[in-house]
Formats: sequence, C-alpha cells, structure tokens
Amino acid sequence: MTDDLLEDAIVRFEEALPHAALSEDARERLSRPASSLKVSIPVRMDDGSLETFAGYRMRYDDTRGPAKGGIRFHPGVTAAEVTTLAFWMTFKTALMDLPFGGGKGGVAVDPKRLSPAELERLSRGYIAAIADVIGPDVDVPAPDVATNELVMGWMAHEFAKIHRGHQPAVLTGKPQALGGIPGRASATSDGAFHVIRTVQPRMLDDVEHPSAAIQGFGNAGAQLAGRLADAGWRVVAVSDSSAAIHDPAGLDVGALVDHKADTGALTDAPVGEEIAAEDLLALEVDALIPSALEGAINGDNAESVRARVVFEVANGPVTAAADRILDEAGVQLVPDILVNAGGVTVSWFEWIANRTGDRWSAEEVARRLEERMVTETAAVVAVADERDLPLRTAAYVHAIERLSRSMDATGTSTLFSDAER
Ligand code: GLU
Repeated sequence: MTDDLLEDAIVRFEEALPHAALSEDARERLSRPASSLKVSIPVRMDDGSLETFAGYRMRYDDTRGPAKGGIRFHPGVTAAEVTTLAFWMTFKTALMDLPFGGGKGGVAVDPKRLSPAELERLSRGYIAAIADVIGPDVDVPAPDVATNELVMGWMAHEFAKIHRGHQPAVLTGKPQALGGIPGRASATSDGAFHVIRTVQPRMLDDVEHPSAAIQGFGNAGAQLAGRLADAGWRVVAVSDSSAAIHDPAGLDVGALVDHKADTGALTDAPVGEEIAAEDLLALEVDALIPSALEGAINGDNAESVRARVVFEVANGPVTAAADRILDEAGVQLVPDILVNAGGVTVSWFEWIANRTGDRWSAEEVARRLEERMVTETAAVVAVADERDLPLRTAAYVHAIERLSRSMDATGTSTLFSDAER
C-alpha cells in the first residue's frame, strides 16, 4: 500500500466536512496522526539465523480516550497503511461513542512462513519494542488481520513480564483463560449481522431470502456467512486468497468452514464451483460483502459490481474512486466504520471487565453489543435522512461531530468570545 491510501481515507473526511459542525481546531488536529513509532524486531529463527522485521504502532488521535486498534501481521504492512487504519479507528470509536481514540499496529511479515515458535518470538518481540507507548490508559491494541487470541495471549503475557505485574486491560481479544471475554472472537461478524438486519427493511425489503457474495473467508467473513445462512440468506459465493466458490442455489457454509479448517484454504472445496476471484465481485446479488483487505473494490473494477448493496466488513475495501462509480450506478453502501465496529465494541467490554476485575457472561456481551449496534446504526440512518447524505458521509458526520465536541472541550478556543480575548 502507498501513501495514496491515507489520502484516499482523508477524502472521505473532507467530503463529510461541509455537512458537519466541526471547529477549526478540531479540523486542524484531525489532519495528521498524533504519533508514529517504527521499530525493528530481531527474531531468532528456528534454523538459528536472526531475521529482522519492521513493526509499527501509530496513534492517530486520543482525545476521547486511550488509542484503540488492532495489530496486523501481513507482508504488505507499511507506515502509511497502519496510519490509515489508525485514522479509520478514530472515526469508528467516535461513531460507536466508545471512550477511545484511534490507533493501529502492524508487522510486515508473512505469518504463514513462520513456525508457531517463530510467531511467538515475533509477537513477544513486537510487544517488547512498543511497550513504552501502550498501556490500559494510553493505547490498547487488539487482533486484526492474521492475529488472533493466541497472539494476544503471548503479547499480554510479555507485557506483564515487562511491567512486573498483571495489566490485562493493555490488550483486548485475549483468550478467556487470560482475561478475555466471551463473544470477542465472533464480535465483528455479530456486529455486522446486527447492522445488516437493522438496515435490511430499508434496503432489501422486497426479498425474503436475499443473496450474498462474500469476499474473504477469515474470521469475520466466514462467521458472517454462517450467521446469514442461518437467518435464511442465500450465500451464493465466498472466496479467500486461494479460491472463489460459487453456487447460485446457495452454498453449504458449514461444509466450507470445515474444509477450510481441515486444509487451511477454500481451494478444492467439496461444494460449489470454482470461479475467478474477480467474477465474485461481478455477481448479480442483493449484497456484496468485502471482508478481506482494503482497496478490493477500486476504480478499475467497480464498474463490474452488480450488487444492490455493499456492506463493508473489511476496513477500507472500497476506494474513494469506487465510491463515486458505485454511487452513480445506484449501488448503496453501508460503511466499514459502522459495519465492522462490533469487534472494537466488544473489546471495550473486555477492557471494562479487566479494569473492574469483573467477568461478563456471554448473554451480557451479546445483549449490550446488539443494543449498541442497533442504536448507532439508527443514528447514522437518521443523519443520512435528515441531511440527505449517503450512509458513508452520514457515518463520518456523526463521528466528526462527536470528535469535535470532545476536542473543543479540551481546548480554549471556544471558551472565550473574541471580545473577551
Ligand atoms: N481490528 C479490529 C478493527 O479494525 C478491532 C480493533 C479493536 O478491537 O481494538 O476494528
């Protein structure tokens, strides 16, 4: 990814500005990241050699609370990508009214190339390298692409060793045995499901069994496919980096989940037909659900999209250029900072539980997640209707106005009138 990614992200912010009440101070403060850290992580490999990996932790803004956001392990990780992801987290946490700012971390590595022991040494080395800039009151990492609760467990354990004491609230998405919370692993897909269900009567009210094509069969994509199928949707296509599988009658999602668990990939799946990855994006479906990486739907392929609605489960899967093409073609879009906010929302519950020394039940997590997702989805829809805006712009307006109120409350510019100064 290049610097264009951040520029592209800032376009959405700027598009929302004319519609939002935002002070000059807040606008200035939101125009660049608060802090950027790049580290080198030397890792002893199993063959005895030493390999060094580049790692990052970026804090975009922390006015509303400690920075919050995941850690990504991917070969394409760069400073610009992590900064952009931290930018999106800033708006996501404000949109959900969580007491957090936005941050993100990442390591440029292909985790599939590492043995489990090498992955553990890399995870611990990364936390040791960024330990000075994270903490329960400062910046609270979590899982993202290719990091999971096992990785969070190693990292929390390493942080406790460095600080010579337990600080479980430093990281969320931990295993339950180490202070994690029930429902965190399914939180992103559960949250997306609540958003989809809330807007469905408005966007897809004429179909009883809507069809969906899902790009990305990782944690969020695969679980959402299952939830939609259980709710009577026809999941007609799914894909991962190995293959795209299609069946117009609806795929047996359970069989695909089992196949992926057994073999690590969708290729040679026991159900459906293989199609080209690009063809999945062009299917005539009610919902297209990009759940993999940023930029999947871009200026080059957006014209092929024939879905009625795009639900962004990944962060940033539709570029600003693609937004315009989809809009002209009448394709509706529900944005990432709302659709995938269930993950960070349940991270908030985990952070609260860790700080109070409490345990939350699965029922409590599910109830409060649903309530929060439905409330904020309705708020975004209300902004869209009142100000006649697309849902992405409405989501940014809603988040920007919360950010602006918090920023103004910390500053002096709004306290005194010109005459008093
Ligand atoms: N990585 C997730 C996201 O992009 C979750 C972040 C968190 O829980 O802090 O929203």
